[in-house]
Amino acid sequence: MSTTTSAGTPRTMRALVLHGPQDLRFETRDAPVAEPGEVLVEIGSVGVCGSDKHFYLEGRASSEIVTEPLVLGHEFGGRIVQAGSEADAALVGRRVSVEPLMPDPRSPEARRGSYNLDPAQRFFGVPGTDGALQQYLRVPVQNAFVIPDSVSDDAAAMVETISVSLNGIRKAGVAAGSRILITGGGPIGLFAAQLAFLHGASRVVLVEPQDERRATAASYGCEVASDLADVDERFDAVVECTGVGVVRHDSCLKVAPGGKAIFIGVGAQDASIPMPAIIEREVSVQGVMRYAFTWPTVIEALAAGRIDADSLVSRALPFDRAIEAWTVPLATEVKTMIRVNG
Ligand SMILES: [Zn+2]
Repeated sequence: MSTTTSAGTPRTMRALVLHGPQDLRFETRDAPVAEPGEVLVEIGSVGVCGSDKHFYLEGRASSEIVTEPLVLGHEFGGRIVQAGSEADAALVGRRVSVEPLMPDPRSPEARRGSYNLDPAQRFFGVPGTDGALQQYLRVPVQNAFVIPDSVSDDAAAMVETISVSLNGIRKAGVAAGSRILITGGGPIGLFAAQLAFLHGASRVVLVEPQDERRATAASYGCEVASDLADVDERFDAVVECTGVGVVRHDSCLKVAPGGKAIFIGVGAQDASIPMPAIIEREVSVQGVMRYAFTWPTVIEALAAGRIDADSLVSRALPFDRAIEAWTVPLATEVKTMIRVNG
């Protein structure tokens, strides 16, 4: 067994560890070593996600509950500093974006092409698997996707977010001439809007109460509204990115006959949706769980300048001040980045 290392990999590192609700602490840990089939990544930027906020505030997000100390961080990239045996030594020194989803490739779901639905999947930064808010993380080599120099560290982290939006836009079946409604102008909704146009949508309407976010959507060519009640038409697909109960409900009313209601936003565990509209208009209701087979597509689109990610970064914090991402919320936040080794 052999391990290829770039010079100067330290023995210890700093990690930001969540011990329970509103209890984040910096700790010193042994730096990991790449095992066979893995690479060691020196972490660059880590994006802070809505689910990270729920983990911090409530100790849970959706059905995932923090029961043991956990390192958050599932939106990330960095630089490979070590390759374990069975991983290509030429990767050492390359910059990568890391896909955090680790399915069992032999699961029935993975074998039929939906590896995001493997119930036994592991995922960096959710209970059971430490994430990227530490200086080094070892990852399976197949989860590390090399990025060109033109893709920034922040954009490398946002490949994860863009992937969620891409899965939603694929599920929506967006094609040339499609009319799409997006509810919510956070990162997922704003990337969904960009991707809808990339897939050929002729009209994209985005509903978002915050002025700055609406202005960003308008800059992509979206028509914008501050309230769903102001939208008086129906669409080939509605992509729901808020998770808010009333928006979930009313978005179904905005789907044209034979169209699709796509649910990305995670909110209350139960929701009420209008069954007559769904039955009588044959509306397809589709959930979106993470993503599958998105990293190469997203990296290509970023490298080609077809998706703008960097301008969605509203705040970048050095690792020392990472806790502010949770304790000092911004009124005009879109995406907060933590620059772990920046
Ligand atoms: Zn996320």
